[in-house]
Amino acid sequence: MEALPIRDAEAPFCAVIGAGPAGLFAADALAQAGARVVIYEHKASPARKFLMAGRGGLNITHSEAIERFISRYGAAATRLAPFIHAWPPQALRDFCAELGETTFVGTSGRVFPASFKASPLLRAWLGRLSRLGVAIATRHAFMGFSESGALRLLGPDGGEIVRKVDALVLALGGASWPRLGSDGAWAARLDAQGVRVTPLAAANSGALIAWSPIFRSDFEGQPVKTVLLRHGDARARGDIVVTRNGLEGGPVYALSSRMREAAAKDGATTLAIDLRPDTSLECLARKLSHRPQKQSHANFLRKAGFSKVEIGLLREARRDGLPRDSEALAALIKNAPLTVVGVAGLERAISTAGGVSFDEVDDDLMLKKLPGVFVAGEMLDYDAPTGGYLLQAAFATGLAAGRGAARYLGLAAAGGGEAQPGADQAGLSPRHLPYSRAPEASNKYSI
Ligand SMILES: Cc1cc2nc3c(=O)[nH]c(=O)nc-3n(C[C@H](O)[C@H](O)[C@H](O)COP(=O)(O)OP(=O)(O)OC[C@H]3O[C@@H](n4cnc5c(N)ncnc54)[C@H](O)[C@@H]3O)c2cc1C
Repeated sequence: MEALPIRDAEAPFCAVIGAGPAGLFAADALAQAGARVVIYEHKASPARKFLMAGRGGLNITHSEAIERFISRYGAAATRLAPFIHAWPPQALRDFCAELGETTFVGTSGRVFPASFKASPLLRAWLGRLSRLGVAIATRHAFMGFSESGALRLLGPDGGEIVRKVDALVLALGGASWPRLGSDGAWAARLDAQGVRVTPLAAANSGALIAWSPIFRSDFEGQPVKTVLLRHGDARARGDIVVTRNGLEGGPVYALSSRMREAAAKDGATTLAIDLRPDTSLECLARKLSHRPQKQSHANFLRKAGFSKVEIGLLREARRDGLPRDSEALAALIKNAPLTVVGVAGLERAISTAGGVSFDEVDDDLMLKKLPGVFVAGEMLDYDAPTGGYLLQAAFATGLAAGRGAARYLGLAAAGGGEAQPGADQAGLSPRHLPYSRAPEASNKYSI
């Protein structure tokens, strides 16, 4: 078990806003460094999106080589690299193991907890935070800053709370799946402080397809294994799932921004599915050429190894009937065109593109315009495909912000990091704090 730091009433007081993975990890680092920490969360319970990610198996990180891993963040790769190097995928796996949840590498190289769930991990982590003395105040919403630069919150009874804190970590998430808590309302609040925020947009979205009523009712929720999707000259391979309104899954998400643009321009766009990516057209046509005269399409294809949902997808692609000719049928199986009318918006997207520009933060993720205020997680301007990269970045930047805040306060950073020599010259000394030291609650909701 981790060593408990000695804390007294004189220890610096830090607020972390947002009880998602980034906020919880920042709080962990700050508490280990000896700060008094309260996490404010506007939902009634912590980490709702993390728990939702757990319903899909919780792909927590990826096992590929670190340079390739970092390249997945595209335009943000060089900005995220130091944080990922400081907290690489193996460190995250070790952290899970410390919390009693072993992880394993799936066939795709993705890493999952053995339970395929987020709840055991979260339970153990909340226990650890409690032992570290971290308090979590739910139903407290971040409302921005007062004129004097103090933290403004809305308490459970709707009353305003103004708090002076020694350092603040904002970990409010992106804007996707707003019903889980992260609604992006912070963007306007930071904008009001002169912080540049790249507009928030849906990323890793499902494709919207107008299924026939019969296909939808028969196959909603059904997985289709190992397909190759093509959109123009882009390709993505993996498993997909039929949803009420279209398709979801890694390869769909990977093509979603291209499909969004094309559908917005032309009203609709074509997504082609190859249901047998490892079999050549010729080989498939040969296999399908021995067909008994009177056998129905469905029976014939089922005997050839196609599942009901695959046959349904072929019928959706050719609503005027499946071809009897083996070459034409093979061509359809290798290239079944589906009409995509758009992609899901922020309300159902897996992640959010845009966020606080990296030009607005220093190497410790402190906002240059708001000394003492740090930013972590998906509210930063990064995006990545699915595959565990999103959670890895949330953890790594959460740790960096927590350690940065600890350094700012002159505390030895958690996990072996030392207070940086020269922090004074860099303007990181507690002398420059915009906030007073004591946590002065302005009303009864003091923690
Ligand atoms: C369905 C789904 C499945 C996913 N699966 C995976 C996966 O398998 N692997 C992966 O890597 N990623 C996955 N993700 C993405 C991953 O969950 C996020 O990238 C990650 O949760 C971001 O962490 P965060 O701490 O930055 O933000 P969040 O987890 O969004 O946490 C932000 C917290 O801030 C709180 N908050 C927001 N505004 C306020 C306010 N004004 N006042 C107080 N509190 C506030 C929110 O309620 C929330 O608790 C998935 C996402 C979704 C939607």
